[in-house]
Amino acid sequence: MLKVCKFGGSSVANAKQFKKIKGIVESEKERKIIVASACGKEGKDDHKVTDLLYLCLAHKKYGMSYDDILAVIEAKHQSIIDELKIEFDIKKEIEALRELLETKADADYVVSRGEYLSSRLLALYLNADFVDAKDVISFNYDGSLNIEKTKEKFLPYLDTKNKVVVPGFYGTLPNGVIKTMSRGGSDITGSLLANIVDADVYENWTDVSGIYVCDPRIIKDPKRISTITYSELREMSYMGANVLHDESIFPVKEKNIPINIRNTNKPEDKGTMIVSSVDDQVKSYPITGITGKKDFAAITVAKSNSSSEIGFLKKTLEVFENYKVPVVLVTTSIDAFSIIIDKKDVKNTIYELANDIKVGCNCEEVHVTDNLSLVCVVGRGMKARKGFSGQVFSLLGENGINVRTISQGADELSIIVGIEDRDFTKTISSIYERFID
Ligand code: ASP
Repeated sequence: MLKVCKFGGSSVANAKQFKKIKGIVESEKERKIIVASACGKEGKDDHKVTDLLYLCLAHKKYGMSYDDILAVIEAKHQSIIDELKIEFDIKKEIEALRELLETKADADYVVSRGEYLSSRLLALYLNADFVDAKDVISFNYDGSLNIEKTKEKFLPYLDTKNKVVVPGFYGTLPNGVIKTMSRGGSDITGSLLANIVDADVYENWTDVSGIYVCDPRIIKDPKRISTITYSELREMSYMGANVLHDESIFPVKEKNIPINIRNTNKPEDKGTMIVSSVDDQVKSYPITGITGKKDFAAITVAKSNSSSEIGFLKKTLEVFENYKVPVVLVTTSIDAFSIIIDKKDVKNTIYELANDIKVGCNCEEVHVTDNLSLVCVVGRGMKARKGFSGQVFSLLGENGINVRTISQGADELSIIVGIEDRDFTKTISSIYERFID
């Protein structure tokens, strides 16, 4: 049995959190490979080390001094070193960073230092081997992960009884230059290593006890999801639930390795298991999760007889392509359809775009609705229940919520309803109260 454990920024925010990690890692010998993020915020007003490093780069760009920012980074690490009584010369590391900023200041190298430093300290504290991501995590020149090369480089480091600590978030290009992943990328490092060592579980330790049925800012103390499939999670993250880095799913999914989301502050909680499939055709409740996002717009296009005009939808979609606007959803009726887009993608161009459709596609009517929210009800259990979507729509009707668009995926894994922004919270809470509570 082998587990890869990734600890997020809040889990390495200070010495107290390091002690919790030690307790967790030492409680199971299977927890052999540890991936760490950079030190995160200690409280609301604090800043993540990664953000501070980006700030140093911004100061450098505008010719401003970054001394105070480096001092904050040094102090954060020094307090961990002092409290845990480990031997580490943080001053020397900060001086090297300063020198780097003064000379070539390769941005990826600078921001990678957050994970490098937290992982060096964690390895010392856990008496584990430090394996630098620059020596093992490999990218191709196009920025994609090179799994084969990473495997070749990483496996020899496992020939040890010791636990190993690897910094998340960065690796190297074929020419040895450090490259960082997108924000939150330590999740990807963990997943990649889990794939390579054929881990039994990929544990992702954070500051919540798993994934909740819906956003705790909308429903107080929502139920926790005990098991969710990769596909359900994909639907939930697409529509707003922010759990794991999107790209971290693929390496573990490829090998059917379950991800277990755990809480460093409450290690006794079992968390949420993310798996490829579940053998529970009839669940006690049909919904696994409810999620959603505000601030969408719909462009509704109507043209008589368009249903028999070959290529009409394609022609319309090409206008979105010309404006480089991703299409979120398309809902259709006989001679009209609505194209739903994220408002941030059409800030000043929505009416221009609508006009191009009207003129270019020779439509009778093009109508813009710009106060749309999408709420997505996700659940593998919905498939087995006849009339379930009808129950959802009548519930919304009973609550005076006007449903503007409806979309149900062919796999019956999710139902997406478009409602007005002002009904967003009410829609989520009424579905939760009826079907979950
Ligand atoms: N430290 C990086 C970030 O803040 C990567 C990570 O934490 O996963 O985005």
